[in-house]
Amino acid sequence: MSDLKYEIELNVDFESEKYSGRELIETGIMDGIQLDAVGMNIESIKVDGRQVNFDYDGKKLKIAERIEKNVEVDFSNAVSSNLMGFYVARYDGGKVFTTHFEPTGARYFIPCIDNPAVKAKYKLTINIDSDLEAISNMPQVKLERNGRTKTIEFMETPPMSSYLIYLGIGPFDFISDRFDGKELFVASYGNRSKRGKYALDVAKGAIEFYEQYFGIKFALPKMHLIAVPEFAMGAMENWGAITFRETALLADETSAEQTKRSVAIVIAHELAHQWFGDLVTMKWWDDLWLNESFATFMSYKAIESMHPEWDHWNDFVLGETSPALLMDSISSTHPIHIDVKSEDEIEQIFDDISYGKGASVLRMLESYMGSERFMQGIRSYLKKYSFSNATMQDLWMSLEESSGLPISRIMKDWVTLSGHPVLYLEEEGDRLKVRQERFLFRGSMSGIWPVPLTYYHGDVTESTLFDVETGFIKRASKLNASGSGFYRVRYQDWEEPLLKSQNAFDRWNVASDAYAMLISGNIKLSKYLELVKKYYEDSGFLPVWEVSSQLTQMLTIYQPVIREQFLEFHRKQFAQWSQKNDLTAKVLASVLSRRLVLADESFGKSFAEQDFFKVDADMKYTVAMAKAIYSGDPFNELYRIYSDSKNDEDRSRIIAGMVNIRERQGLRQALNLLLSDKVKKQDIRSITASTTNYGNRDMIWSWFVENYSYLRKIYAGSGVLPRIISYIVPYIGLTRENEVKEFFKNNPTPEASMGISVGIEMMEVVSAFYDLLRSSSASL
Ligand SMILES: [Zn+2]
Repeated sequence: MSDLKYEIELNVDFESEKYSGRELIETGIMDGIQLDAVGMNIESIKVDGRQVNFDYDGKKLKIAERIEKNVEVDFSNAVSSNLMGFYVARYDGGKVFTTHFEPTGARYFIPCIDNPAVKAKYKLTINIDSDLEAISNMPQVKLERNGRTKTIEFMETPPMSSYLIYLGIGPFDFISDRFDGKELFVASYGNRSKRGKYALDVAKGAIEFYEQYFGIKFALPKMHLIAVPEFAMGAMENWGAITFRETALLADETSAEQTKRSVAIVIAHELAHQWFGDLVTMKWWDDLWLNESFATFMSYKAIESMHPEWDHWNDFVLGETSPALLMDSISSTHPIHIDVKSEDEIEQIFDDISYGKGASVLRMLESYMGSERFMQGIRSYLKKYSFSNATMQDLWMSLEESSGLPISRIMKDWVTLSGHPVLYLEEEGDRLKVRQERFLFRGSMSGIWPVPLTYYHGDVTESTLFDVETGFIKRASKLNASGSGFYRVRYQDWEEPLLKSQNAFDRWNVASDAYAMLISGNIKLSKYLELVKKYYEDSGFLPVWEVSSQLTQMLTIYQPVIREQFLEFHRKQFAQWSQKNDLTAKVLASVLSRRLVLADESFGKSFAEQDFFKVDADMKYTVAMAKAIYSGDPFNELYRIYSDSKNDEDRSRIIAGMVNIRERQGLRQALNLLLSDKVKKQDIRSITASTTNYGNRDMIWSWFVENYSYLRKIYAGSGVLPRIISYIVPYIGLTRENEVKEFFKNNPTPEASMGISVGIEMMEVVSAFYDLLRSSSASL
């Protein structure tokens, strides 16, 4: 099937939002064929030029005839109004048609063999209104105007997987630049592309880094980075035509520093996929993690090479490792490598395990192998499987060859076992007895991982592969050097590891482990709070952010017990970070202020009075939160600002603020607004920002229940719903646990089943933690 080729000609009616097409599939000799095609009108089929009968059930198109050369299909379809397949994305004043196919959307667009392992060449021709622009994976090679319409022919693609096809049609605007003599564009709608200069610069730097690191030039003749008005995910790596939600691509001098950094990391992630994912593709979705973990890991390397002053591995730890450790501490987690078959299963695995845990395990592997040998292995893997498919075993073999180390054996357990280990320590003379089991917030379970264990012995960092249940190491002051290993440590005395920490990663690691032990009931609240006091004067970005997150989570769950300490920590740290004069400090000061607003009335009121449009961009979110909580008429005030906003970056901050309105009438209006045509469908997921609205959990839960079927509809096929559920249910379900379980029992949702299990189990964890905080508050 390697010579499979599709020649596709589409007539697209922009006004009525319909299209029809003729597709010639060159198959070579085959005994019949079965194509994926969802919800289409199949008008006629010819095999080798002869009209034939076919069998179509709305999902599979079966042709029993023997084929010598080719199959020709005539079909028609409507452009979708959900955020999957070939869909309409509307904005104030217009619309574009755009595609999102990962994982199984291509079958909603054209009849095809929609399987990543079946790579094919695609030659696309379209007929559209002459005033519209069109973008696809390859450059246009022919343009013919016929009065009010025009015909555009795109260059044929190299062999590629169907989920990476792209087609965009609409009144796009562009800016461009060049790399290696090839054209690089930012495309957008409504004249926004002028805000894309920053994106062009990031993309050029990242491509240069990857071409050098991988030792392979970018394979296609051009690259488009496209901001689309409605987009369920953050971005998508279609080969040569990457799509983004506006806030993930467009940033300029008016943007917050944090926005610029997240734009850079998203662009670098999608560009890494152009090699790892697009040029070399996983054989099946069970190796999705390989694509995602790798692109995630590489994106931080690329940004580090371009902006060493950002200390971007801090963001890796906070954005990838921490959320992954969290989700991996419950029994509803899944192994990195997971068997998936149905569409419903596939779309749900785009989660913190596939991205964050996978990437963290790769980081651990690289530090075990050494970065040079790691890079050599990756280079030979990409070279060997270019324009083709591979499995994780193929990658391990390439890394084994480059390093001479038993990579397959070590990685097998890390990717196929659910969860991660906790190491219990016990002093025995001058040695340390180490015992491992699986770490869980609730309950315990045996488990043995091959842990690349590092520890500080005196001034020396020692390492060993710890792959037994119980063993001994030298007496160590702190385990897990620089926190680069994906495991927990339970110390008996928490002050020594903190005191002997060699860097901010270590201090983050101690705080992170202590908090996990608190939630799982392995240390007392009073002991934990004593430890936290040692962080009041800490000057490290990472440990301060971590402790702030912990205290904020506790405040959200049960505020009486933590309120005073929360205030003291945040006031001290905000004073420290808001004085500093560098961009990284600005990012942290912004986060600290936004959280302090939750509990500090006079601090909050001072921000509520400020002009949203005049404050520093990094403080806008804080101002929106402060107005939501302390303004006299929060909804109307925020709504006025929302209406005056010019871009999605501002709007998304205001929405996140609005769902934190405490006054109930205003919150009701905000929740209604979320579902109106004033808010993009993609932004309804901002409801996840409401978890800090702890006084109004009942209202947010009711809103969720009332609109559940609508949420299912708009996010169908995108995998967004399970994420929303897993993030908010643990909080809005608090104190109504049985009702929540009953609701999901009565509303079976196959496309979110994993998110529901995670959400419910995490709710039980949060609920037990709530009980613990309440009962310990008396004894403090
Ligand atoms: Zn990705």
